[in-house]
Amino acid sequence: MCAERTQRLLDLVRGAGHAVELEPQLQSILSAAADLTGSQTASILEFAGPANQSHAATLPSFHRRAVRLPELPVERSAAAWVIQNRKPLLITDTTAASRLFPDVDQAAGNEVRSLLAVPVFHGGELIGALEALNKTDDAHYTEEDVSVLETLAAIAGQAIRDGALQRRLQSSYNEMAELNRLKDDFVAITSHELRTPLGLILGHATYLREQASPDDHEQLDAIIRNATRLKEIIENLTSMDNDRSGVARLRRQQISMARVVEDVISAFQEMARQEGVLLKADFGALAGTGADLIVQADGVKIGIALSHLVRNALTFTGQGGQVIVRAESTPGAVQVAVSDNGLGIPAGDLPRIFERFFQVESHLTRRYGGMGLGLSVAKAMIEMHGGRIWAESVEGKGSRFTFLVPVGEPPAAGVGLS
Ligand code: ADP
Repeated sequence: MCAERTQRLLDLVRGAGHAVELEPQLQSILSAAADLTGSQTASILEFAGPANQSHAATLPSFHRRAVRLPELPVERSAAAWVIQNRKPLLITDTTAASRLFPDVDQAAGNEVRSLLAVPVFHGGELIGALEALNKTDDAHYTEEDVSVLETLAAIAGQAIRDGALQRRLQSSYNEMAELNRLKDDFVAITSHELRTPLGLILGHATYLREQASPDDHEQLDAIIRNATRLKEIIENLTSMDNDRSGVARLRRQQISMARVVEDVISAFQEMARQEGVLLKADFGALAGTGADLIVQADGVKIGIALSHLVRNALTFTGQGGQVIVRAESTPGAVQVAVSDNGLGIPAGDLPRIFERFFQVESHLTRRYGGMGLGLSVAKAMIEMHGGRIWAESVEGKGSRFTFLVPVGEPPAAGVGLS
């Protein structure tokens, strides 16, 4: 094969690796097929429909409109012979050519004098045929022409399959995006609609508790406790939706991280007592120095993030365990770590732990409450500050969740809303 032919084939192979659109690729293959075999024209027939009963044609653009036949019968065409025999077809005499008269070429207005057709395979599967028509000067097609056309057919086969995969991938992406949108709408509407009646239940129950005799307190406390839990779940859903839609806004001010830690710890002391877990703060070298670990941050959101970590730590640490919240200063940031010596998290689940709705146990075997939202909310709240959150854990030994909040306000771009 001469150097020029080899170079042209090489260029096509290289181009196929980068090309995104199928159509221009096929057109380049057809031009190469006509040029390199010295033919008047070339066409690709891609089989479509059940059991290769028909085929769609891709022809050089200047013929395209004339032969826009979406599906052509394979009988009475060179393609049919190629399908049945799965090997190249070489026709040099005009009588044979008219017998195997290709409908496509008739439609394209070509008078067929000679024809070379090769099968287009992909991974052993026959997916079409590549045809070259009318060798110039009425010469005969050679064995070398067959090799060139077969090489081009292999490139075309790859391109057609890549195109099909690309289309399937794109439609899966579109479907997923649509499902995601439906889910987001559902979450937004449901949490919005639940909030108002729940607020009323809580308000009335609290009022009744004030009026009721002590005998009824236990019942009313149960209503209030569970309605409050429901409210927290709805707030998690809402804040997740707000983060996603970019509605969440930070109210930054100078806050003391030491104060946030102490507030959260005292809010969870009762739960810790009930769980039989020791819960304490650790300010390391700063203890007793009065240093406050000042940061420019939204104290409410940092408090929510830390509360999720502490609640989880208490939930997943058994009787007699301990949960320590350590806060310290690091260069340019304040770091807070919640360590427990509880259940730990399997290594395989650790990378997914911050995903929305992710829980280590399947819902069928769950013993603990929650919706798998706490950590994703915590992550969103820390990242809104330009901070970072991560988890380390050894199954059976315990976990440590750590977050960093920059001391000052990061540049605007760093305040990312997911
Ligand atoms: P949930 O509100 O359901 O607890 P989270 O997003 O807060 O959801 O946590 C997701 C999952 O991560 C939990 O269901 C639990 O399996 C696991 N997990 C979180 N924190 C801990 C921890 N400290 N120890 C063990 N497992 C944990």
